Amino acid sequence: GTIAPPSQSNDSKPVQIAEVRQDNRAQRTAAHSHIRGLGLRPDGLADTTSHGFVGQTAAREACGVVVDLVRAKKMAGKAVLLAGGPGTGKTALALAVSQELGTKVPFCPMTGSEVYSAEVKKTEALMENFRRAIGLRVQERKEVYEGEVAELTPEESENPLGAYGRTISHLVITLRSSKGTKKLRLDPSIYEAIQKERVRVGDVIYIEANTGAVKRVGRSDAFSTEFDLEAEEYVPVPKGEVHKKKDIVQDVTLHDLDVANARPQGGQDVMSMMGQLMKPRKTEITEKLRGEINKVVNKYIDQGVAELVPGVLFIDEVHMLDIECFTYLNRALESPLAPIVILASNRGLTTTRGTTSSLTPNDPGLMSAHGIPPDLLPRLLIIPTHPYTGPEIQTIIQTRAKLEFATATAPSLSDNVQQGLKVSASLAPEALEELTRQGTNVSLRYALQLLAPAGILARARGAEGSVISSGDVEEATSLFWDAGRSAGELRDRAGEFIS
Ligand code: ATP
Repeated sequence: GTIAPPSQSNDSKPVQIAEVRQDNRAQRTAAHSHIRGLGLRPDGLADTTSHGFVGQTAAREACGVVVDLVRAKKMAGKAVLLAGGPGTGKTALALAVSQELGTKVPFCPMTGSEVYSAEVKKTEALMENFRRAIGLRVQERKEVYEGEVAELTPEESENPLGAYGRTISHLVITLRSSKGTKKLRLDPSIYEAIQKERVRVGDVIYIEANTGAVKRVGRSDAFSTEFDLEAEEYVPVPKGEVHKKKDIVQDVTLHDLDVANARPQGGQDVMSMMGQLMKPRKTEITEKLRGEINKVVNKYIDQGVAELVPGVLFIDEVHMLDIECFTYLNRALESPLAPIVILASNRGLTTTRGTTSSLTPNDPGLMSAHGIPPDLLPRLLIIPTHPYTGPEIQTIIQTRAKLEFATATAPSLSDNVQQGLKVSASLAPEALEELTRQGTNVSLRYALQLLAPAGILARARGAEGSVISSGDVEEATSLFWDAGRSAGELRDRAGEFIS
């Protein structure tokens, strides 16, 4: 058997070259795509297996209480600390808290070490993540013409509305409504708005009836070039006449708004701020800019147009933060605009970073639990997480395997795209046993990491129905070492390596 070339994997988009982005948060949550909530019953108790969660029931129940505290607005100035070993589900719990708080509630995961970079100040990096974790839901009932841009004059079709500064003589849209479709020639006064939106042939747009504001909402595949320029058919858009009323709800984060407006000609109303999301970053996000955005956002909140949606900021390996960051964190928790902050640590008593000095090498610095300074500790609700039992590990692996290996009954196309390239395979019972053994002896993380290579090995072997055997798992284990074995082997064979 051979491994199918990438072109035969039919359910994934072609991979394109892209710059290494600083943060690909979507990928970080991909490992938790089976988690759909805390899986609590109405009485607040956890079912052993529910919503993708397996075990860790006490921590899930405690997280449920945190969700209730947030809803009762009793979490102001406080934060949560998940304390437990690696792979005990801390990230999964934090994600589930955000899911319990509602759909479209932002979840921003980060690790403590992320704040250290040459370009951005530590507190600046923290602030950025705070703003990623605060959502804004803008709700507007607008009277709009909904239409598909069908035609431009021949000139413009050559260079669809890219002809800035030129007078556009015709722009035709096809309006679709329950009554059928109608071709309209647009009022010239909205050309400018259309140019600003970079509308092109085939785009679907909304035109607000009263202001003539134009919003690009997508592309239409239905568009065809069969329309001709027949001037007599054109009807100017009757100003003030309502074609359709539409509730437009937009979910963005404050950080999205910062980025969108970190450009010289940033718009001032919320909708135009959002229209700019796709354009490249031009200038820096400054304190002043954030202040201005806050002002505009507050105005919209006062007018009842927008609503704040505090999300969850998850800071893993919190002991990597230093005293300066903790000071900032303390202050940020006080802010009326704070998200729910969930910290995680697998350290015990340790020194808080930034409290030692090379001048006094014997001074151990500030020692405290989890490296968290004593002024923050009392504000924390501490939730312990515990290692999993063998059967729990087995169920978690099984859950992940179901998601990782697409079968003929894949839930939906969008799920597939979200998961990326999938290998169609399934686990033989002995393979699951072998993985569970690795999960128990090494770590859950390691066992989960073996899933994908074992699937590829089974396929390469030409296994019938791509059933992964225990041999495939053993082979994957021999090809990819876990950290403990790697370190051990290097120690035992020290002579072979550069030291
Ligand atoms: P670390 O401290 O190393 O960051 P962690 O405690 O945050 O680890 P996770 O990353 O949440 O651990 O867990 C590792 C993997 O196991 C993830 O894919 C996670 O979704 C899954 N997982 C952990 N606990 C559970 C659970 N109780 N039920 C289902 N899946 C779980």
